[in-house]
Amino acid sequence: MPDHAHIRHWVFDLDNTLYSGDAEFFKQIDKKMTTFISDYLKLDPPDARKVQKDYLAEYGTSLSGLMAVHGMDPAPFLEFVHDVDLSPLTPCPHLPSAIAALPGKKYIFTNGSQAHAKNVGEHLGVYDLFDGVFGIEDVDYVPKPKRSPYIKFCDVFDIDPKAAIMFEDSVRNLEVPKYMGMSTVLVTSDADWSHEPEHARPAGPGSGADWVDHMTGNLAGWLTSTT
Ligand SMILES: [Mg+2]
Repeated sequence: MPDHAHIRHWVFDLDNTLYSGDAEFFKQIDKKMTTFISDYLKLDPPDARKVQKDYLAEYGTSLSGLMAVHGMDPAPFLEFVHDVDLSPLTPCPHLPSAIAALPGKKYIFTNGSQAHAKNVGEHLGVYDLFDGVFGIEDVDYVPKPKRSPYIKFCDVFDIDPKAAIMFEDSVRNLEVPKYMGMSTVLVTSDADWSHEPEHARPAGPGSGADWVDHMTGNLAGWLTSTT
């Protein structure tokens, strides 16, 4: 069993991490991105979808590519894609108590917006348990897995990476934190992500990399049994 006695900072990604990828909730956001890009770039939906996924793979998020290549204003995009129906997302009844019991400070660190973190976090019953929430607006829209948002996150919340652990559903988003000294936990799901770009898709049960310390398909259970 891993020893987390030295951990004082608990860092969580939001989408497909604080809720299971099996929920298929994220598909709504994914589809709204295609609709927005189709409208914004005047492309047929299949071509818009290709742009969306190419930018996700190359720039970290589709938004980051749209800003870099087309000079797009991020605010209308974020507002549109995060305006989603929360009802398909069933809150895990064990997650709030598991997070509340963690010894130390807890944070959400997402490539989504602050408003999205609040919306989803409140729905899951965990939002008020966090000491800080870092959204894409807080890092000048430069997303994970680029290095600068992790540096800024640790700076703002005065986090010593060696005393921190990070939870993510994306393998590539754990490489920089591991290099900085954090412990890393990959949260997997049984959902089929084969339609996503190979290096930018959420992790399945067979995923892993040498910078991943632990893997779990049950976040609340893992937190409860290891702390
Ligand atoms: Mg995620």
